[in-house]
Amino acid sequence: MRDVRMRGFAERADVEEVERFLEDAASALPGEPVALAECAGRVLAEDVRAEVDVPPFARSAMDGYAVLGEDTFGASQYDPVSLAVVGLSLPGKPHEARLAPGQAVRIMTGAPLPDGADAVVMAEVCHESDGRVEIAAAVAPRKNVGAAGEDIVAGNVVLRAGRRLRAQDVGLLASIGAAEPVCVRRPRVRLLITGDELLPPGSRPAGAHIVDSNSPMLAALVSRDGGERLPHEILPDDPERIRAELERDDADVVLVSGGSSVGQEDHAPRLLAELGRLDFHGVAMRPSSPTGVGRIGDRFVFLLPGNPVSCLCAYDFFAGPTLRALGGLPRDWPHRRVQLPLARKISSMVGRVDYVRVAIENGRVVPIATSGASILSSTVRADGFVLVPRDREGMPEGADVEVLLYA
Ligand code: AMP
Ligand code: MG
Repeated sequence: MRDVRMRGFAERADVEEVERFLEDAASALPGEPVALAECAGRVLAEDVRAEVDVPPFARSAMDGYAVLGEDTFGASQYDPVSLAVVGLSLPGKPHEARLAPGQAVRIMTGAPLPDGADAVVMAEVCHESDGRVEIAAAVAPRKNVGAAGEDIVAGNVVLRAGRRLRAQDVGLLASIGAAEPVCVRRPRVRLLITGDELLPPGSRPAGAHIVDSNSPMLAALVSRDGGERLPHEILPDDPERIRAELERDDADVVLVSGGSSVGQEDHAPRLLAELGRLDFHGVAMRPSSPTGVGRIGDRFVFLLPGNPVSCLCAYDFFAGPTLRALGGLPRDWPHRRVQLPLARKISSMVGRVDYVRVAIENGRVVPIATSGASILSSTVRADGFVLVPRDREGMPEGADVEVLLYA
């Protein structure tokens, strides 16, 4: 491997080439059983099939009286039907005896329907006294009864592999008696934040030092993409320290921030090439052109430029999709998209992909003038970004463009 420090990139890879490489290299990690209470947001590794009916028994959907529907035919306010009340069915405490014609059982919502009954009359049209109930309206058989299996039928697949579990999914898994659904293991991610100039987040910038803004930003992106972050500390631009961190084998993905380019203190590319493979170094895009991608054993290593906008952009182009793929999620950009006309033209260059921060004002897309990769506030003012493809010189004023929204 040639040492490119202080020489510059001889050639840059196309974004699509790097994307294709990562697509081939990263697929879902194996599954692991996960306690139900921890399952929300996790991705199912296998289809889940119900082994039981839900509900497992026919139950009342009302407070009232369980009856044989036929017994109430013809009942009205002026000509009520009178039935003998022979018992009580409560949720979890069923009435055990079989109901005979002419009988009723007082029943509450969720309680099992006694054998022999086929309908429930709601309490509002009933009047009970001296062991009898007068019913002032007819009910058809099956009325106000939830049949066994009306929610879920035993043997059916209730959730498919690949589903990111929502709150209600976890509830449903509980209802069929699942205890530890098998979910895709979350990719473990280690941040490797480098820079002699960096102070830890929470400090006040002073002298020649700046505060590390990349690690809190990357931590948020990793959570968004379903990764599990391992602890980290800020490293100096010291090749031996960086080497030692790169050699640790506890992560699935390593995100190196800073020192990814061709400067004198940019050690990570050389170290990555030495310890594993530096598959790409330098990508035809703006910002983030000094991005590197490689592997050490099974670990994916992303060399993200230190400039915060480049760091964000390189993460979202390459690391984000990889994390999602490892976690069993779709690789696509997770951002919501809107299509709107451009208020001013966007200039780009054929041969590279541009990531242009934009604001949306009065239904039009306004490119944000500052394009510097060090100006993080540009991404804070922006509502989203527009991607200018490699084969375009730019986009004219008035053209409909797709904006990927940050929020
Ligand atoms: P580098 O990629 O290390 O050459 O850094 C490029 C620029 O980004 C320099 O101005 C660094 O000071 C700045 N920078 C590097 N790392 C960070 C970080 N974690 N947070 C904020 N700025 C950074
Ligand atoms: Mg640096």
